[in-house]
Amino acid sequence: MKFRPTKKISTFYPPQRTLMGPGPSDIHPRVLSALSRPTIGYLDPVFVAMMDELKAMLRYAFQTANEVTFPVSGPGSVGMEICFVNMVNPGDKVIVCRNGVFGGRMIENVERCQGVPVVVDDAWGEPVDPNKVEDAIKKNPDAKILAFVHAETSTGVLSDAKTLCEIAHRYGLMTIVDTVTSLGGVPVKVDEWGIDACYSASQKCLSCTPGLSPVTFSDRVVEMVKKREEKVHSWFLDLSLLLTYWGNTTRTYHHTAPTNSLYALHEALLMLQEEGLERAWARHRRNHLALKAGLETFGLEFLVKPEYRLPQMNAVKVLPGVDEAEVRRRLLHDYNLELGAGLGDLKGKIWRFGIMGYSCKMENVMLCLCALETVFADMGVKVEFGAAEAAAYHAYAENPLPMRPSDAARVAVA
Ligand SMILES: *Cc1c(COP(=O)(O)O)cnc(C)c1O
Repeated sequence: MKFRPTKKISTFYPPQRTLMGPGPSDIHPRVLSALSRPTIGYLDPVFVAMMDELKAMLRYAFQTANEVTFPVSGPGSVGMEICFVNMVNPGDKVIVCRNGVFGGRMIENVERCQGVPVVVDDAWGEPVDPNKVEDAIKKNPDAKILAFVHAETSTGVLSDAKTLCEIAHRYGLMTIVDTVTSLGGVPVKVDEWGIDACYSASQKCLSCTPGLSPVTFSDRVVEMVKKREEKVHSWFLDLSLLLTYWGNTTRTYHHTAPTNSLYALHEALLMLQEEGLERAWARHRRNHLALKAGLETFGLEFLVKPEYRLPQMNAVKVLPGVDEAEVRRRLLHDYNLELGAGLGDLKGKIWRFGIMGYSCKMENVMLCLCALETVFADMGVKVEFGAAEAAAYHAYAENPLPMRPSDAARVAVA
């Protein structure tokens, strides 16, 4: 048999979609163009200077002074893994909260590190219950770490990270917090809340290309990892080795950094810094209120109680008698619009409307409402044309965005 080039393959041109699922989110042209800049060596002095800026901007995004704050080469799942593989020794007890898909993955991580998970379960659609966590810690005084997901993307729930970290510290536990979907969309305050290890991902509210995972570790974690008796059970993710490249004292080869992806992350973080974190959080909230107002005109109900809802990830129950997958298929086919489906037990029961980062804007919200209107109408659902857009319009009018500091200064001068 001869191996010949496969015929009929031509250049891949993906369609231009509007991404309103659980990530990746839409990417600003500034970030996409950063990707195509010249590739340079990962030890080039110009690149090394860019790395320092990248770390500084990540500290701002995480609201931390942690020296060890950098993007790991790999998706959010690798960010999760680097925390567990460095911090969990065989036999260590870890309290893990599970109220959706990603808490379940944390349990897997503990087991694969030969740790002993103590699982605190809450229903999907509910936040992590701090009382249950405190009880579990009291029953397991030898537990070393508390791990939980701040923003459960599978259900659209926000848990109270501040309170959970406070409880952990009262009993002397370290914390691992998943902020993959929260970072850039809702407040994440690593230092104020006393988070020890925190990971996120590039493709959700940071609106960068997938494949990078920003992480930050307190000095306490770094000291603990240095004192480990057993070597970390992963060469690639051994924090001490990674710091020979990303640390402050040396820049030596560890692995070939994904240089162009890092340019893109630099640009995405620069855009976040220009907008300002508070303003980015306000933008997510504002677009959420408008989307919610519109969705409710269709009779759609949210899975999550208002006080625990994530603005950037809206889980709503499928209308009775409507084919869930067919709605998404038509939205993609007719409008190039991607929505998220339910996972696990919620499969077929919810739609997930993501408005993360650059996807979080009025034009997407309005497009989505209009698209749903026509798709629902085509599928025999009774709709009142224009009602959703009107409701969203009023929500926007009632919730103006705070001005950028630069705009406010301009107005004051005028
Ligand atoms: C998306 C996500 C992850 C995993 O990130 P990947 O980049 O897909 O590996 C982990 N945790 C949460 C909460 C997520 O939403």
